[in-house]
Amino acid sequence: MTNRPAPSSPPRSRFAAILSENPDATIVAGATDVGLWVTKQMRRINPVIFIGHLTDLQSITEDETGITIGAGVSYTNAFDLLSDEIPALGRLIERIGGQQVRNVGTIGGNIANGSPIGDTPPALIALGAELTLRSHSGRRTLPLETFFIAYGKQDRLPGEFVEKILVPRPAEDAFYAVYKISKRRDEDISALCGAFHLTLDEEGKVETIRIAFGGMAGTPKRATHVEDALLGQPWSWGVISAVRDLFDADYQPLTDWRATAEYRSLTAKNLLTRFFLETAGAGQELVRFEMEEA
Ligand SMILES: Cc1cc2nc3c(=O)[nH]c(=O)nc-3n(C[C@H](O)[C@H](O)[C@H](O)COP(=O)(O)OP(=O)(O)OC[C@H]3O[C@@H](n4cnc5c(N)ncnc54)[C@H](O)[C@@H]3O)c2cc1C
Repeated sequence: MTNRPAPSSPPRSRFAAILSENPDATIVAGATDVGLWVTKQMRRINPVIFIGHLTDLQSITEDETGITIGAGVSYTNAFDLLSDEIPALGRLIERIGGQQVRNVGTIGGNIANGSPIGDTPPALIALGAELTLRSHSGRRTLPLETFFIAYGKQDRLPGEFVEKILVPRPAEDAFYAVYKISKRRDEDISALCGAFHLTLDEEGKVETIRIAFGGMAGTPKRATHVEDALLGQPWSWGVISAVRDLFDADYQPLTDWRATAEYRSLTAKNLLTRFFLETAGAGQELVRFEMEEA
């Protein structure tokens, strides 16, 4: 049994046709990930389908629903619009790789590679982004978070490719922040990356909240235990301090050479605290708290 929606009407795409005939081919967009498979791991990646020149995948448009980013849009080409419309995403892009990587690396590649430490997936999941996959037989659209099934496993069938990502624009009164934690500011992969998207009702209670992290699990993943505990509660230090530890129910991170599991767990909690302090406003009671030992 599968709950995948039925593909919509068949598109005409030479890329889709070639991919359907060569479902095991390696798709190459900016090659900032794939290039390392060859130069560092000596992997053979033939046959290759290069898509870096496909203009159909390189449009970035906006309407009342949000911003639609073609899978082949580079970070550099996405930067101006995203910075204007969703400034926190612009600031995140400035932290991805260096200028050379941003000039050719694509948002579609960052999603399709399925890395648990890719920077855009948690940021886009927190916004409620939708992914459109395309194949020779049609298209299907799914919430981005469901694309990541398990470490190294994505919901992409043979012959399918990532076509575009719809990024809903946050409401005007919403709070949205992305925090990338890495050892260097530039040219460094995240130890963890947390994104928070909050709306409050008229009484200052949590109306909606989406929290997603990279670097905390085998996939980019929402913190549903923390979200559920916050829903309907006052956006107050008392509530935040009570729910912080629920991150331990959402995530059991690993230790690797970027960070220890303990560091990741504590930092996720502290990023919630930071988001609270940055959004609580002048009317909130000032908070003093002791940092726990990392
Ligand atoms: C020096 C350096 C620094 C980096 N810094 C960061 C960083 O700070 N943050 C970060 O998140 N990443 C970073 N990366 C990783 C990389 O740049 C990103 O993941 C980038 O977005 C990959 O995009 P690409 O177009 O180069 O993908 P490619 O390397 O071309 O492809 C990546 C994967 O996606 C698949 N793919 C690509 N496009 C499609 C498509 N349309 N449909 C289906 N599959 C597709 C490929 O087959 C491959 O599996 C860095 C890489 C380097 C080399």
